[in-house]
This record gives sequence, C-alpha cells and structure tokens, in this order.
Amino acid sequence: MIYFIGAGPGAVDLITVKGKELLEKADLIIYAGSLVNPGLLQYAKPECVIMDSAKMTLEEVIAAMVPAAQAGKLVVRLHTGDPSVYGAHREQIDMLRSYNLDFEIVPGVSSVCAAAAALDAEYTLPNVSQSVIITRMEGRTPVPSKQKIADYAAHKATMVIFLSSGMLEKLQGELIKGGYTADTPAAIVYKASWPDEKVVRCTVGTLAESAAKYNITKTALITVGNFLGSEYDRSELYNPTFAHGYRAADPSKLELKPEVK
Ligand code: SAH
Repeated sequence: MIYFIGAGPGAVDLITVKGKELLEKADLIIYAGSLVNPGLLQYAKPECVIMDSAKMTLEEVIAAMVPAAQAGKLVVRLHTGDPSVYGAHREQIDMLRSYNLDFEIVPGVSSVCAAAAALDAEYTLPNVSQSVIITRMEGRTPVPSKQKIADYAAHKATMVIFLSSGMLEKLQGELIKGGYTADTPAAIVYKASWPDEKVVRCTVGTLAESAAKYNITKTALITVGNFLGSEYDRSELYNPTFAHGYRAADPSKLELKPEVK
C-alpha cells in the first residue's frame, strides 16, 4: 500500500493524526526534503528506509516505491502542505496505476491555511471577498494563457500566490496592471508555522521592497486583497436578526454582551 500524505505546512504537530500514525508504521518514507520538516521523520521506525525526493526524479521515486509496495511494505510519500496544491502527486499516481498497486491520499494542512492563521485573517470576509484565487507567477513552469496574474487581479478577490517570492517586482506590476491599486493591502508570509516564520504586512506597491528588507526570497506565500483591511460586513449566519434551519431570528440577542473585566 502506498500513502500520499500531506505533511502540513512545517510545524511538526500540524500533520494529521492519520498521517502521523502511518509514518509510525511505514517501511519506506520518501519525503520532499526541500520543504517537509525533517522533525517528522522522528516518528519513523528505526528500520524504516528514508529517502529525500529533492534529489530524485519522478522515475526514481516510482522505481523506489514499486518494489517496496510489491513486497507488501507500507510506503509513505510525504508531501509538504496538502498534496493537491502544487504537489505533483497526480503524475506519480498515474504511473503507479499500471502496476496495480493500491494507494490512498491523506490530506494535510496547506500553507494556504497556515498563512491565514499567521495573519489572524479570514480570506472570505462578507462583502469583501467570497472567493480565493490560488495561483502562481509564470516562471520556468509556464501558466496557461487565460490564467495570468493580471486576469485574476481584475476580480479583486483574495489572492494567495505560491512559488513567486523571487519575482515580486514583476508580480506587483502584474497585479497593478490587472486592476489592484498600489495601496491595496498585501502580506508576505515566510515559512508559516515554522519557528522562523516571518509575517510582513505591506501593500501591492511595496511587495518587492518589503521582501528585500526582510531577506525573503523563497518559501513564502504572497496574499493580496482587502481581506487584510479593516472593513467588512458581519456574517448573516451568526446574526441574531437572521433566521436559518438551526436557529430562529431574535434581534433582542444583539444586546447580549459579556462584561469587560
Ligand atoms: N503543497 C504545498 C505547496 C507546495 S509548492 C502546500 O499545500 O502548501 C511550494 C511553495 O509553497 C513554496 O514555494 C511556497 O510558496 C509555499 N509554501 C510551502 N510551505 C510554506 C510555508 N510554510 N509558508 C509559506 N509558504 C509556503
């Protein structure tokens, strides 16, 4: 059996219980050494074989997994954050299909979520943004032509931009070209949930200079949008004047306020 496991964003205790239990049982762990916290490997059995995929190709990863799984070993492929976000696990699964091996995906906490936590932020504030665009700048990996930063910026939705902290001058230009004003709030979250996490609040127009000031060139997410501002509407879901399937409306509850001590 092969398990693709989300390791979480960095902090060792942000892996799921299921992920940790599988690490404890694994006979082979192939982990993404560039971003997965090596502290997670402490859960492995002493006899577990551990390989760092940062130095391997797709073919080498498959060549390591297949014989182990065929021999009845428990194989773990440990991806950073959640595998579904820039994890490149689909190509592994498709290659594995021809070997008739069983696999399962165990989700993890993406850095998308860890960055919001580091910012004390909600991406989907009522009347500010009800959509989150997860994207990246085009680099050596191309981006489809209708999915450029400027196209998305035109929506003024919350944007979470991966894999782009080395191209911030260009990124801020694209965001402004798309319709964000230079003073739109933005934030750079470096190594969310790691002990050396850095949170830099800035604006779209000052992304590049802010990253340079704090020496951030990689392992960061760029978040953009008015969800980082102070204006928003309160939710209807918890509004006493709003009724729904679980609760009748009762405007008198607007007066309910604990004492300040
Ligand atoms: N699957 C991962 C993303 C892998 S792509 C996830 O769900 O988070 C690698 C990119 O993710 C990095 O270049 C960086 O942009 C971002 N990233 C990963 N971990 C991060 C963290 N702890 N803090 C900030 N950004 C992170």
